[in-house]
Amino acid sequence: MRESRRSPLKSAVPSNVVSPVRRCSRTACGRPAVATLTYVYADSTAVLGPLATYAEPHCYDLCAEHSERLTAPRGWEVVRLSDPSAPTRPSGDDLEALANAVREAARPPDRGPGSGSRGPRTADPVEVARRGHLRVLRSPDS
Ligand SMILES: [Zn+2]
Repeated sequence: MRESRRSPLKSAVPSNVVSPVRRCSRTACGRPAVATLTYVYADSTAVLGPLATYAEPHCYDLCAEHSERLTAPRGWEVVRLSDPSAPTRPSGDDLEALANAVREAARPPDRGPGSGSRGPRTADPVEVARRGHLRVLRSPDS
């Protein structure tokens, strides 16, 4: 098995939040990943599903072409959770969840009294910084 799936994003990003822009894990393939392949060793099953939010062991991001060409090892079963030929991109929910996670990570533990307790926020977060592919988002009232 391959052990050397190395992403330059991993060393550049301190947290476990990954960029929504992911690349195919196949060697010499730099196309954007549209699906995540997960090997379930217990069931000898390779599950091809939507792009995972978090990178995990035994998960491999694949582009559309490699998703279609996917072949399982002998004796293994391939389960496709979604149509890989359909246009795939992060949903609004995914992007919002990612933005929230980054915002949480960037927020100081103590912001002093009065801040953050003024009810639900309605304004969109604004971008205040970039770190590699990550954007640090902050609400306008901060
Ligand atoms: Zn590929």
